[in-house]
Amino acid sequence: MTVRRVVLLGEEVLRAPTAEIERFGKETQALVQDLFDTMYYAEGIGIAAPQISVSLRVCVMDLSRADDSESQRLTLINPVVLESSKTEEKATEGCLSIPGMEEVVKRPAHIVVRAQDELGRTNELEAEGLLSRVIQHEIDHLDGILFFDRVTPLKRQFLLKKWKKNQ
Ligand code: ZN
Repeated sequence: MTVRRVVLLGEEVLRAPTAEIERFGKETQALVQDLFDTMYYAEGIGIAAPQISVSLRVCVMDLSRADDSESQRLTLINPVVLESSKTEEKATEGCLSIPGMEEVVKRPAHIVVRAQDELGRTNELEAEGLLSRVIQHEIDHLDGILFFDRVTPLKRQFLLKKWKKNQ
């Protein structure tokens, strides 16, 4: 078990481009395990590789903390959003890399995603509700996008000012 340090807002790796995983071996499996270990330790429901300083297209999630259910480990490697609904939903988001900041973000309600698992097997997945939101939030991390990039510029300015003041 390896809990890695979670990168915070302001560190460049959060905005850096990420590379696809091409070879699926022990290293990929170890990275996935580190992501889960770090996410559970930090009490999050999703985390992406850039958040532990790894610029690769890997993210993991487990919503069981949010709805108090059995473990729902989900690993998405090289994920691609194939479809997103026109219908959007609003909900409050936060991020392990920006502790203390929360804001309502509007996102497509329903998505279809194609991704590989840690063994390289390709799966397609439909998601709605919280799962859809978490998947979109984590895929955004792989593209260097943070959740406050998706609110109005005025609100973003306000959030950043407040966040910096509290650091
Ligand atoms: Zn995040």
